[in-house]
Amino acid sequence: MRSLRASCSLLAALALLAVGGASAQSPARAEAPRVAIIAPERLRQGDPLLAWVAALPEPGEPDSASFAQAIEALLADASGKTIARARSFDATALLGADAAALPGGGSEGARLFGALFALAPTLPPGDYSILASGASSALTVELRDFPLETIPLDTANAQILTKPSKRKDDEARKLVSILAKVDGSALFAEGQSFLFPAEGGFRSASFGDRRRYLYPDGKSDTSVHGGVDWGVVKGTPVRACERGRVAFVADREVTGRTLVLEHLPGLYSLYFHLSSIEVEEGRVVERGERIALSGSTGLSTGPHLHWELRARGDAVDPELWLGAPLLDKNAIMARITALIEGR
Ligand SMILES: [Zn+2]
Repeated sequence: MRSLRASCSLLAALALLAVGGASAQSPARAEAPRVAIIAPERLRQGDPLLAWVAALPEPGEPDSASFAQAIEALLADASGKTIARARSFDATALLGADAAALPGGGSEGARLFGALFALAPTLPPGDYSILASGASSALTVELRDFPLETIPLDTANAQILTKPSKRKDDEARKLVSILAKVDGSALFAEGQSFLFPAEGGFRSASFGDRRRYLYPDGKSDTSVHGGVDWGVVKGTPVRACERGRVAFVADREVTGRTLVLEHLPGLYSLYFHLSSIEVEEGRVVERGERIALSGSTGLSTGPHLHWELRARGDAVDPELWLGAPLLDKNAIMARITALIEGR
């Protein structure tokens, strides 16, 4: 097993990136990287991408917060062009007791950072790379067929969409500002897979559906659906999809009674058209905890729950993590152990 101190310095790797990447030559590159990326190999257009970056800092390197600031993850296309950047957050605490059990564990040992991206529904399918501090991970983005649906609206619903309203504009600005907030200390999620927020019912729309609204006056408009619609009778319990902090509660013109949970820095789940909300802002709720009752408030053609997920402000498919954990502890611990052992 190789010595921890003998391997490549993370700061050297960062400096290498800063001076122009692969063309620069440095003896540090001859050493095995002390950074590894743990991320999915395949995702679809419209999915969230949460890349975990495991790093072994040299003793005496910057403290955790400034270290996290230094690790910037990039998403590059097949030609190497950067298409998105995400400053990482320190997520070591999410490993809990597992991190402390590592060789050299604790605050001076291995660290885990998270980098969150939104893959736009319009992102061209193909091969991409996730890059961070000299490490890389390949990602294939698969083409997805978003269905087209036509929705006739009655006069009341059409007015909500088309009538100019200062209230509507103010509410839109407020929600955008809340969802754009990336608080590096917001480690509320436990890292399990998501729980679907309603029981029973039926799917009435999916993420990314292209919608054509038909107005009573014969005109029409188009939009892209930002979440999942689930038809349930009014008063159906709505549960938190993951552990999170109640970031926002409001009665809004378009989305009706609205609840927003913050799960990780920049990762929020949203619940619209509720009949009542049972938790107050600031409270931390557990995965599966009842937070509201469903309804049909705001712009709605019938009782349903609209469940949405935002990654750094952009709507992404909330269903990806129904079948996969946010944080695969076993895979991450295996990679960290391999880094420590110099494999
Ligand atoms: Zn909806």
